[in-house]
Amino acid sequence: MNWKPKNELLRIIKKIKLEGKCLSINCINKPIKSHAISQSLLKLISKNGEVIVFENNFFNARNPEGTIKEKKRGIAKATTFPGFCSYHDNYIFEEIDNLNFDLSGKQAFLYLFRSLSKAIIQKEQSITLLNEAKRIAESNNLNLKLNSFELGILIGMMNLTEHKLNLDSLLSNNDFKSIRFTLFHIEGMPDILFSGATFLDYDFQGNQIQNIARTDILFGLLAFSSVKLEHGWGILFVWDSKSDYACLAFFNSLKEYTKESKENAKLSEALARFIITRCDCTAINIDFWEKLNNTKKKDILSNINNIVKYPSIETKDNLLFGIENIFNFKVSKVSENY
Ligand SMILES: [Zn+2]
Repeated sequence: MNWKPKNELLRIIKKIKLEGKCLSINCINKPIKSHAISQSLLKLISKNGEVIVFENNFFNARNPEGTIKEKKRGIAKATTFPGFCSYHDNYIFEEIDNLNFDLSGKQAFLYLFRSLSKAIIQKEQSITLLNEAKRIAESNNLNLKLNSFELGILIGMMNLTEHKLNLDSLLSNNDFKSIRFTLFHIEGMPDILFSGATFLDYDFQGNQIQNIARTDILFGLLAFSSVKLEHGWGILFVWDSKSDYACLAFFNSLKEYTKESKENAKLSEALARFIITRCDCTAINIDFWEKLNNTKKKDILSNINNIVKYPSIETKDNLLFGIENIFNFKVSKVSENY
């Protein structure tokens, strides 16, 4: 790529990052910087008001010279996305922004809804960028091969939209009976916080859960977030019953993977691996990060690099190994509501 189109692409990338919209139905108000991870939670791990985040934007990562790098960010800006106006951000998410997770279907739903909304905004930005990239490439006689990648993003967007329609209707009917969750209670204070949603593709044995290249099924979607609990904190997985087939297969695989492990060692490892390989929105405690040796930092960075750069690519082997002895989640209890 020569300089001129690259510069134009970077200019557009900067502009696109600022755009977004309020995802509440029929709202035309301007979006604010909504937190994917609540500020009250970020405060817990911050040092001088800052946390470590990773350059978690798809567009930066597509910058030909860009790789994912850690950065210190103030918690007012860390992990934000332009997905709701000020009114709806507060109205919809106030409960989970300020209270401990109470194990209710409603609060679990809100975590799912927020993760899904962030994924939708990111996909919309990706599609806009791809269209712009194609336009620039065409006008500069460049051969830009984006087709299979682009198709992956479009299929992903179709699925996210269908899940969003379902969740919109649950929210407006105040009906959370179909919301399922598994909560891992963790002792102590978190070193890492996260908020994500993924179409499950492979499990902890490397078996395919669902084929995320198909266009004739609704992909099972699993959201996961760190949550504050009355005692300690928690790793919360949430889904709607429409995603049962994939999510139940996933948790069976996790049980199989961890069944002979002493003191939950393999469970902690599996949870950490899942989070790092599937989450593009994490925040890490600065002291914790600085104490990690370079091999461990690289292990985290390369996995985050993959999920951010190639969000619609299948990930067959990456739940089998990696991200070992980095995080030590002391799981004290598991709660399920199904
Ligand atoms: Zn709004």
